[in-house]
Amino acid sequence: MLKLNSLNKKWLIIRTIILLLVLIALYNFRNNIGYIKNMDNTFRNNTERVDHNLDRYKDTEQQSLLRFLFKSKNGPKTDIPMIKPDFSKINDFAIYWLGHSNAIIEIDNKRIIIDPVFANAGPLPMIVRRYNKPVINRNELPKIDYVLITHNHYDHLEKKTVKKLKDSIFIVPKNLSYTLEKWGVNKNNIVELDRDEEFKKDNLSIIASKAVHFSGRWLTDSNKTSWNSYIIQDKNKKIFWGGDTGYSKHFKEIGDKYGPFDIVALEIDAWNVRWADIHMFPHEVIKATKDLKGNYLLPIHWAVYDLALHPWKESINMVVDLAKNDNVKLLTPKIGEKLDNDNLSNEKWWNNFL
Ligand SMILES: [Zn+2]
Repeated sequence: MLKLNSLNKKWLIIRTIILLLVLIALYNFRNNIGYIKNMDNTFRNNTERVDHNLDRYKDTEQQSLLRFLFKSKNGPKTDIPMIKPDFSKINDFAIYWLGHSNAIIEIDNKRIIIDPVFANAGPLPMIVRRYNKPVINRNELPKIDYVLITHNHYDHLEKKTVKKLKDSIFIVPKNLSYTLEKWGVNKNNIVELDRDEEFKKDNLSIIASKAVHFSGRWLTDSNKTSWNSYIIQDKNKKIFWGGDTGYSKHFKEIGDKYGPFDIVALEIDAWNVRWADIHMFPHEVIKATKDLKGNYLLPIHWAVYDLALHPWKESINMVVDLAKNDNVKLLTPKIGEKLDNDNLSNEKWWNNFL
């Protein structure tokens, strides 16, 4: 009978692990990227380079790039407060921020969900883990009329949620239909919007606009789909939803063309000098709010995932300080809290949590 010595055993284990990793990679390939074969154009940022003025962030340059993939040491030490939303009736106007970039907007008697993600946000289950459980599960979602997607990254587009919402109308960047159809959404339920293209229904208007970012779920689908920001409006309200983006002159262009806005929702929390062109720094968030002519700033893209190398409260605290100096009005709801004309919450709820 064949006997394995300890060296052979070790190699057998290593080879088994490598085989498993290859199988997982192939499984991801089949699920996420095997279907981009008909796309021949890729997207790129058509923008001038800007001076990001980064002296104050210099020390972040030295930190490890790999650490952010694994379990976070930067997250909250305890559960953070959340408010379970009541969706029993639809409001004339309301925003429920569900954490990170996931939100529900009620406007013109319709419900729009933006970038809905409820689980961890990486290609493998153990990476880019949530700090906290979602305030609602995807199975508890109310009737959703429109699903708005800013771009194809794991923390903005989730396959299970797409399947769950497949009967809603999806409004997405160019070239994303192919992915959604593979995940079970009927072609007739998908509207692709290129920059400055508009979707209109009754008094609701959704216009796609620029962002400076990138897309892709795996190694071979980089930038095969586009990335958008959106202007969402009806007769009473005008909202700018920034998506993921670096700072550039596009904010001024959008502000001049479509502003002023009642609320601008901007990402605040994945900055690093190494990727200065694709995410904003706190001082740029304030600059962008002013460029856009935003009345209120709603900071998003924080409090759920550790996607950079700084503690979870650092960005929001910096934004609060900078906003005060520059007279920018903030909306800082708890996760799940209803924002509307009567509740323009700017409570610094995170201060009591480590
Ligand atoms: Zn992104």
